[in-house]
Amino acid sequence: MSDDLRDSIARLHDRIERAGRDPASVTVIAVTKGFGIDVVEDALSAGLVDLGENYAQDMRAKVDALDLAQRAQVRWHFIGRLQSNKVRLIAGDVTLWQSVDRSSVAREIAKHAAGAAVLVQVNTSNEPQKGGCEPGEVARLVGECRELGLSVHGLMCVGPADAPTEARTAFRLLGSLADDLGLHERSMGMSDDLEIALEEGSTMVRVGTALFGRRPAPPGSRR
Ligand SMILES: *Cc1c(COP(=O)(O)O)cnc(C)c1O
Repeated sequence: MSDDLRDSIARLHDRIERAGRDPASVTVIAVTKGFGIDVVEDALSAGLVDLGENYAQDMRAKVDALDLAQRAQVRWHFIGRLQSNKVRLIAGDVTLWQSVDRSSVAREIAKHAAGAAVLVQVNTSNEPQKGGCEPGEVARLVGECRELGLSVHGLMCVGPADAPTEARTAFRLLGSLADDLGLHERSMGMSDDLEIALEEGSTMVRVGTALFGRRPAPPGSRR
């Protein structure tokens, strides 16, 4: 494990504790998007086995670059915008589909990964450019996923950037939707807003920059 990563993990645990939470009660998804296989291997050697990826082809390439022992270690979380035609590419490797936000994607996952575990992504900040279904559609989509045989573990959202007050409102809404539906997992909080998310009951934080530093600008800059 690199010294940088060791220090970053220690700082992350401090932040989680200072937010009043036991690090053992929070799943850290190490977001490796944009980084190469070296970062994935460094994460694994540090015991970070829940890894998040946003692009199906990138995830495929990383899975294929790992040896069998490493592959068995990783729990891949798909956290990006899902395109139905890309589901098949990674269907056998995803542990938790975190970004299910419409019926067509749920159907595609059920077709290629029967019984898969999913989170329904909700646009809790009412930002038109953002992924996620409308809060008013969550119950219907959760029901639909279940009818398709998928296992709905909880909800996910992406907080509004640089807007702490709005972020708290958005995270609180996700929590109350999850409460209403009796769902356990609340995947919310990233490098810049994880304290607020943890205070609002996050069970999973998705952390890239705070663990691995700034992402290299992707070719064609997709972010
Ligand atoms: C990139 C990304 C993250 C990680 O973001 P950081 O700010 O680097 O921690 C988390 N969740 C989603 C959905 C992302 O796209």
